[in-house]
Amino acid sequence: MRSAESAVLSSVPDGAPLFDRVLYVGRPSMAPDAEVHARIQGALDRRWLTNDGPLVQELERRCAERLQVPHCIAVNNATLGLEVALRALDVQGEVLLPAFTFIGTAHAAQWLGLTPVFCDVRDADHGLDPEDVERRITPATGAILAVHLWGRACAVEALEAIARRHGIPLILDAAHAMGCGHAGRPLGSRGTVEVFSLHATKGLNALEGGLITTADDALAERIRLMRNFGIPGEDLVDCVGTNAKMNEFSAAVGLCNLDHFEALCAHNLRLHAAYADGLAGVPGLRLMVPEAGQAFSHHYIVLEVLPQAPLDRDRLVSLLRAQNVYVRRYFRPGCHHGEPYRSRPGGPPVLPVTDRLSRSLLQLPSGLQLTPEEAHRIGRFIASCLRAPAQGHTSP
Ligand SMILES: *Cc1c(COP(=O)(O)O)cnc(C)c1O
Repeated sequence: MRSAESAVLSSVPDGAPLFDRVLYVGRPSMAPDAEVHARIQGALDRRWLTNDGPLVQELERRCAERLQVPHCIAVNNATLGLEVALRALDVQGEVLLPAFTFIGTAHAAQWLGLTPVFCDVRDADHGLDPEDVERRITPATGAILAVHLWGRACAVEALEAIARRHGIPLILDAAHAMGCGHAGRPLGSRGTVEVFSLHATKGLNALEGGLITTADDALAERIRLMRNFGIPGEDLVDCVGTNAKMNEFSAAVGLCNLDHFEALCAHNLRLHAAYADGLAGVPGLRLMVPEAGQAFSHHYIVLEVLPQAPLDRDRLVSLLRAQNVYVRRYFRPGCHHGEPYRSRPGGPPVLPVTDRLSRSLLQLPSGLQLTPEEAHRIGRFIASCLRAPAQGHTSP
């Protein structure tokens, strides 16, 4: 193992790492400091710091418009957003969800005392497999919770049909989906309800934050109530609620970043093209591409190392990290292998696509931290890693 790595490294012109700073997956891209300062100063001047402040309301209005959905409710993070959505829908029993997602998707259901039931994903879009959902659905199923992984739409039409036929809600974890579309529209108005994350590592960041979107008027009202302790107004309590409110500083950052979001997506598109160019002609790799003709943020730049590649994914990851390119391996392992799920009776289910993807994907840096030229250089480096063993340096 060592010898193959050093053979590859010695095939690079000199010993110095490719970058003298570390490039990260999920490093926040931010609007200019002066713009952030100005909006935050406005909140300080008003002394209206949280509780449905004017910046939160402006963020909700602008996002509802951009997502073309009647209701957009800001929350303090997507995890609580999912919990509030599940609770507002009074979901009981089992929740069918993909094992190939961030653990927060599953924990949101588990935290409410629901039972996550892990399903496999599709190779085509890395989203929940409707056929596996059909196999695992029972009278105990209370909801389907699907994920638009990397911002690519999951099989929404098929999942909506299954949910309708069984009379259960379809909740969409749209944590990755800001700036991404499907069927000619922005994601955000599919299923019963969608939940976006505005966490600092996501494409549009508000430090911490989330958005719940829905076309259902009554559901939106319930979600607004539950976000604020079930309190509809002074001296009144209508139901059990929690504290899922977004504060004004988060909304300020979210609004500033929203002003520059189109430019960020355009930059990421150039990065994706530069990576693709650097990797061109190298067999054994697949760079994820968006659904044809649909808007895409390219916040996640996902590379699949195929079985025929002369290096495996983990080897490539260590080579890149040695070059200060801190690539990630989302999601490894699948949620079904994390606690408390792995210790449930019967053990974790066998989910072949999830297990394969968790061994073969890596994510490359995106955002304002790097230029397209630098992305191209990373692509060339990866290409050199894969070519070197084929030139006879490899050891079994
Ligand atoms: C980030 C993420 C979440 C959680 O979002 P927070 O805003 O950090 O709570 C949920 N699901 C997925 C798929 C995520 O990537």
